[in-house]
Amino acid sequence: MRIVVLPGDGIGPEIAAAASSVLRAASGRYQLNIELEEHAVGHASLQQFGATVRPGLLEIVRSAGGLILGPTATADFKDESSGEVNPSKYFRKSLDLFANLRPSRTYPGLRNRFGVFDLVVVRENTEGFYADRNMEKGNSELLVTPDVVISLRRITRHCCERIAHAACRLAMNRRKHLTIVHKANVLKIGDGMFLEVCRETAGAYPLLAVDDLLVDAMMAHVVRQPDRFDVIVATNMFGDILSDLTAELSGSLGLGGSLNVGANFAMAQAAHGSAPDIAGRDIANPISLILSTALLLAWHGERCGDARYETAARAIENAVAAAMQSGRATRDVGGGLGTAATAQAIVEILQSDKAIAAAAR
Ligand code: ATP
Repeated sequence: MRIVVLPGDGIGPEIAAAASSVLRAASGRYQLNIELEEHAVGHASLQQFGATVRPGLLEIVRSAGGLILGPTATADFKDESSGEVNPSKYFRKSLDLFANLRPSRTYPGLRNRFGVFDLVVVRENTEGFYADRNMEKGNSELLVTPDVVISLRRITRHCCERIAHAACRLAMNRRKHLTIVHKANVLKIGDGMFLEVCRETAGAYPLLAVDDLLVDAMMAHVVRQPDRFDVIVATNMFGDILSDLTAELSGSLGLGGSLNVGANFAMAQAAHGSAPDIAGRDIANPISLILSTALLLAWHGERCGDARYETAARAIENAVAAAMQSGRATRDVGGGLGTAATAQAIVEILQSDKAIAAAAR
């Protein structure tokens, strides 16, 4: 399996190096023969090639078995016509990675004020309130006068259907409970259609328990009792905000794994941003990107019917849990280690027989 790694901006290079070292260890341990190929993206690419995503990079990515994209400085990139494309949007849109899976769970040994839980936010990734995603050409935010802005949201039956199916399938492999999050009382037509299509789609999965909540009420429910949720499906913006919240409820934003999945390709990406406030200080939590990488391995294994990848993915998740339980983690989750040392601790656990035995169970 050839995987392209694009480290990105801010804490991106530090956490991408951490995820790569864990991936190399997993590859060695499970004979996955993974080949990592690194390329510049974001500011590094802008400096070198005059574009945040250089010409030809998409073809390189397409020919690989998967992509690891570090966070990039999205807010800095303002002018697409001068090469400042948002790399995250670019790959999600170009590769039609319509489902963004964002799991959040608590860990033994890590103080959790909100109880024990394990849920996944399934976020639609290709339309909604994301102005740079909705149009074939141009952007769906319009400056009417210097003081007036109109932002348009696109919702299509097709995109609602495919994200609903992705969420239902995932829920069927978990605790068989789907919650639809929406704002159909105000966005009556757009979220009305999202809700209706999700309910209709879920009807084809008779074993699923299905409920729905308004997004504002959801904020209260998920903080009050996160363990009542299993799989949550939401439109783009709501899913993005909700999944940052659920990651933080699990202990830290730095724990939120994220996989962007399309029909034939997947991209691992941390759920958080480039965190410029802590960049270059070896304090960023690398676990989000490490868990995202595990999700990529599991996706690949399921797709090609090779159980070794899924076993390796489980071993990485177990090693992460063991590192946190023994306090070998970054300070945002109460540990005393830096980014690189946390990755090293996970590598050491992964190489020990205990992780192998747990993953094989
Ligand atoms: P961007 O503009 O790229 O979205 P941001 O700082 O606005 O960056 P995030 O990167 O999501 O947004 O960060 C939000 C907060 O969470 C920041 O205080 C950041 O330091 C913290 N944070 C984000 N990721 C991590 C991480 N991996 N480890 C520790 N703290 C993190």
